[in-house]
Amino acid sequence: MYNRLSLKIAAWTAGLMYPVCIGLLVVLKVRWPWVVGAIFALLMGFVAYAVVYYTVAERLELARSTLRQIRKRRFDNLEATHVPKSPKSDELSVLVRQVYRTGLAMRREIDELKRMENYRREFLGNVSHELKTPIFAIQGFSETLLDGALEDPRVNRSFVDKTLTHAHRLNALVQDLTEISRLETGALKMQPKAFDIEDLVGEVTVELELQAQQNDVTLTYRMLPDLPPVLGDRDRIRQVLVNLCDNGVKYSEAGGTVEIVAAPVPSGEVKVSVVDDGIGIAPEHLSRLTERFYRIDKSRSRRAGGTGLGLAIVKHILEAHGRKLSVQSRPGHGSIFSFSLDAAKK
Ligand code: ADP
Repeated sequence: MYNRLSLKIAAWTAGLMYPVCIGLLVVLKVRWPWVVGAIFALLMGFVAYAVVYYTVAERLELARSTLRQIRKRRFDNLEATHVPKSPKSDELSVLVRQVYRTGLAMRREIDELKRMENYRREFLGNVSHELKTPIFAIQGFSETLLDGALEDPRVNRSFVDKTLTHAHRLNALVQDLTEISRLETGALKMQPKAFDIEDLVGEVTVELELQAQQNDVTLTYRMLPDLPPVLGDRDRIRQVLVNLCDNGVKYSEAGGTVEIVAAPVPSGEVKVSVVDDGIGIAPEHLSRLTERFYRIDKSRSRRAGGTGLGLAIVKHILEAHGRKLSVQSRPGHGSIFSFSLDAAKK
């Protein structure tokens, strides 16, 4: 309740009103004008104190305490700050609101910086761990070759071959890492446009045909009738399909089949599924599949050239389209990875 500004104004009011009161009382011939005048001046001082306190000082104190919280980076109580919201509010309320909004903006920025810092730390840990394997392998094979294996016709070609495989892996890893960091930090923006899903699926199957043949897997597609054009970032959706089909091929046994199916659904969207009859996924892994570097069988993934980032990239691209990846799978029977896209308006 104690407030210096209110006290100052009360003292000025009482001091100014005292001679005025005395003058009036003398004119009105009131007895003891000095005493009665002093009582009146004091009363006016009290009234001035109350008026200044409730109209100005309270809100100044609010602005001051909000600024103190901001300075000390204690944003927890910010929400509790009472901010006047009336549209007819005066300049002081506007000031309090601006201070409060500045606090909110700073809190958002600090939270974002913390998030980025955590992301950076965790990411660096994962990356150095993943890079070690191919780098050590390249180092090991090169040293062995230089130590004499180069002249040994029984191993020299296969060692150079293995060095190259690990160099390819390193390259794939660096590409996927660049991609995922751009997606996770929001640097990669989607550019949705209408496109024909059948065209895209055709391109993807051609691109992966050789890889499917090498794994003795049949890669096909089936488009249901009346497919409307879809809305999305074509290049990114292409990447989603490539990653899902690539997994389908990698995690199928020889003689298996991977099929891309696109079907219109009653909600007006188009559902795209990648169906394989491969090794399948046990239920306990399903919720973690899209985490960065999560692999069920690490050595199988590495042997097949996997980076452990494919499904994380898929998840981010679909999220940027406001979509989710859904997975159904039965170990030993196969998996269905699906997502939907908006139909483009004619
Ligand atoms: P990777 O590069 O290891 O394939 P992904 O992020 O693409 O990384 O996939 C994560 C893991 O999910 C894989 O290592 C694999 O264990 C599992 N997985 C993904 N797709 C399939 C699939 N179609 N069938 C069986 N397992 C799969």
